[in-house]
Amino acid sequence: MIIPSFKIDEIKQFMKAVDELYDVVRIVDPSECKVIYISSDGEIKRSEGEYCHAQWGRGRRCLDCASYRAAQSGMIQEKSEISGEQAYKVVAVPLVLDDETGRRQYCLEMIRKVNEGDVISDDEWNKDAGSIEFREVIDTLTGISNWEGFKDAAMEYLSHAADKKSILIRANIKDFKLVNQLYGRSRGNDILYSMAAMCRELAGSKGVYGRIRADHFLMLMAEEDFDEEALRRVAQKVVDRQQFGIYKVHIQFGLYPVTDRKEDISIMCDKAQIALKAIASDHPVALNRYRDTMILDRLYSSEVISGFEEALRKDQMSIFLQPQNDRNGKLLSAEALVRWNHPEQGIVPPDRFISVLENAGLIHELDCYIWEKTVIQLKNWTGTVKENLPLSVNISPKDMIYIDIEKTFADLVRKYDVDPSRLNLEITESAVMADPEGCIELVKRLQNRGFKVEIDDFGTGYSSLNLLKDIQANVIKIDRAFLKSIEQEKRSEIILNHIISMAKELDMSVITEGVETKKQLDMMYDMGCKMFQGYYFSKPIPIMEFEAKYFEIKEGGAV
Ligand code: C2E
Ligand code: CA
Ligand code: CA
Repeated sequence: MIIPSFKIDEIKQFMKAVDELYDVVRIVDPSECKVIYISSDGEIKRSEGEYCHAQWGRGRRCLDCASYRAAQSGMIQEKSEISGEQAYKVVAVPLVLDDETGRRQYCLEMIRKVNEGDVISDDEWNKDAGSIEFREVIDTLTGISNWEGFKDAAMEYLSHAADKKSILIRANIKDFKLVNQLYGRSRGNDILYSMAAMCRELAGSKGVYGRIRADHFLMLMAEEDFDEEALRRVAQKVVDRQQFGIYKVHIQFGLYPVTDRKEDISIMCDKAQIALKAIASDHPVALNRYRDTMILDRLYSSEVISGFEEALRKDQMSIFLQPQNDRNGKLLSAEALVRWNHPEQGIVPPDRFISVLENAGLIHELDCYIWEKTVIQLKNWTGTVKENLPLSVNISPKDMIYIDIEKTFADLVRKYDVDPSRLNLEITESAVMADPEGCIELVKRLQNRGFKVEIDDFGTGYSSLNLLKDIQANVIKIDRAFLKSIEQEKRSEIILNHIISMAKELDMSVITEGVETKKQLDMMYDMGCKMFQGYYFSKPIPIMEFEAKYFEIKEGGAV
């Protein structure tokens, strides 16, 4: 159990707020039976000679002390006390106070007279507005405001900030459920605790903040006080602290610049959530600002997701093939690229649905389906002139989270009795960089099973050159963006020259993607690249068209 933590100012503010509801509100140190005071300059002071049990006219520790139980259990405890003729109810809340000298655990005691005639059962007491005020506005796990507390504070804040533009920031841990499952609740709580501290650091002195549920946190402040750099820096600190094994916490922020102060707070929060959900980046700290068009994107995403199961069931997903050629157009291999044959929209390209399926955790279902179709295609070609044509398939970085890649491919080639050397597996450079050690191992294991591994979209990451020496892939595929940049920049050309010669020395082939012109082809050829894929030779085309173009016309085939 993590005990809520307060800064001195916060506890003073809270004690002031509940003062009217109770007869006595005080902080005690139950281990020493001492009353704790906070001086006007924020120092924590222990009462000399004054024991908390003196309140009840006793000279020693109370039997069954509520604060002692609260400190031991980390949970709010209650007890009735009698002093003279008067009955009291004591609510004891465990908390941690945070000042310059460090963090120490105490208890907040809220004491109220039970008046004659009001015979209150414990149940009723619990329902009593005064005694449960604390739990109503404070999240007892992290000690910051909960949803109710945040809403009240936000409304108050907005009513006083009429002359300033405000911004609402929603923070969320990606795949938090997974963290709880894999590493246990106490690790999960640790992360929540760091998130609460992060909110306090960013919004504590400038705005309001709270945890509204599970791993969702909110901050509201003036736009002019919002510092994106500081936000990234503080979040990165949490990421660096909360790394265990290969798992790294990913913190995502949805930003909603408030346009109408009178808008319902929950609608503002929904909009920040829409911005957050639209984040496509895999970076450990990612943020996104709300735009009105995001609602349309959301609708589009839910349309994709709801149509996807049916698409698989009704076989609407098919493969197009794009050839990989030598300089003279001789066919060497081909890449299988998915197309959705949508009943209303016609042929839909993958850019329109891959990232939606990735974000929804469904991409592995599509990929397994496409891989199987590709292996069946290879099987159908066995014993024909097309048997020597290898096909490559794409692996999404998300596949690695949900399925055992090595086993899936091994099972597939065994099931259809296809030689694994006929199937090339494309892993993106960004996937390798997200988990270099895991990927280097995976590549080795796939190669030991006879598959060839290609590093896709090479050159889009920032440590491409480093990657080359660490990963023993069979092929690297130079990304189209790299090709475009060398036409404008001499530096890119120098880097590319190095990549190609290093790849050669390390025994890796190089494919240039996105070749559209003769000029690009010649330039890459002069740099030493021998394989090309791009519209200059052919767009991706349906399998039948591909077979007709490359095999049936040239009887006997040129493969
Ligand atoms: P990619 O793996 O980089 O595939 C190459 C993409 O570049 C293909 O787009 C191809 O049509 C396009 N392209 C090839 N040559 C040229 C050219 O000369 N000019 C231009 N402008 N574009 C060219 P496509 O088929 O739309 O696929 C887009 C991306 O979708 C792929 O990029 C890949 O990341 C993903 N994808 C495609 N099929 C699958 C799949 O079955 N599973 C997964 N996970 N991802 C897939
Ligand atoms: Ca690819
Ligand atoms: Ca590519």
